[in-house]
Amino acid sequence: MKILERARPEILAMQPYSSARMEAGQATIMLNANESPWGPPDDDDSGLNRYPDPQPHALRIRLGELYGVAAEQVLVGRGSDEAIDLLVRAFCREGRDTIAISPPTFGMYAVAARTQGAAVIEAPLAADFSVDAEALLAKTTGSTKLVFVCTPNNPTGALVPLATIERLASALCDRALVVVDEAYLEFAGDAASATTLLGRCENIVVLRTLSKAYALAGARVGTLIAHADIVALLRRIQAPYPLPALCVDAALSALSPRGLARTRTRVELLLGERERLARTLPSANGVLAVYPSAANFLCVRFVDARQTYRMLLEAGIVVRDVSRYPGLADCLRITIGTPQENAILLRSLGLREAAA
Ligand code: PMP
Repeated sequence: MKILERARPEILAMQPYSSARMEAGQATIMLNANESPWGPPDDDDSGLNRYPDPQPHALRIRLGELYGVAAEQVLVGRGSDEAIDLLVRAFCREGRDTIAISPPTFGMYAVAARTQGAAVIEAPLAADFSVDAEALLAKTTGSTKLVFVCTPNNPTGALVPLATIERLASALCDRALVVVDEAYLEFAGDAASATTLLGRCENIVVLRTLSKAYALAGARVGTLIAHADIVALLRRIQAPYPLPALCVDAALSALSPRGLARTRTRVELLLGERERLARTLPSANGVLAVYPSAANFLCVRFVDARQTYRMLLEAGIVVRDVSRYPGLADCLRITIGTPQENAILLRSLGLREAAA
């Protein structure tokens, strides 16, 4: 696989750590991991005295089914945040390699790159918040290893067409990975995932998370979906036991038939609320524009974002001030809350009639 040759040579060359749990096999008496032979003092039967499965088998299978990919294409870890960090560490050499992004976008791509000593190439979004694939490609160089595309994009809420992603991936084939961050895709109606392009483009990596629609931000369960060889490469540098057993249980429970049905209902409710806010907010005090969103938030431009931010805070509501992002002067990002929370937000912005 050509794209693997773009990884840092020392990572390709090193002998990966083999954890005790990976070597457990069929044994029933486990004396190989320096664990306590007894369960925790107040919960003897919990199994928490044992290290968890490094890539929990049942969870990988469930996530594979959920996202429509094979289990070998799935890498689970501590949120998409860890996946972003693993990709940068595996591919970017300090002081030499670069990543490319289209700001304004999620801030962790640049933070992970700068932490690793990789420069960040920027091709700003167009005025309508669309990704300009040609501008992005024109800025990449031979040392660009990762191109991040966030869809729906945080903080604008705009969906990136699959055709744009395919254009990037085919132009960068064998040269760079196109990392498609789909943290909010569950809120984008029937928009297709970039996983549908994986058969044609081996240089696509898709990031999904249980933090948003599945309501598990506290459990930190993220999924990276890629060619099995890329998954194997990233396993070399991932911590031996990334997911705590309690978090794996929480994820499996959220992905049970009952959990999935509940999530579907909630996503429907949330989309209705997003619609209601998008319709009513334009007539609220100080609102200049409400941008179309395919995510669980709205990007809203105000006459004076700082003043609105402070006013909302005084009313006990905290939103995200994104006005420092390029192209987002005087914008606030407002997460869609419960119907009651949204009603209070609307009331605080002077829309009494819209309150539930
Ligand atoms: N990607 C995007 C676009 C996000 O907005 C976030 C969280 N705000 C993440 C990734 C990180 O998600 P996780 O909780 O899975 O680490």
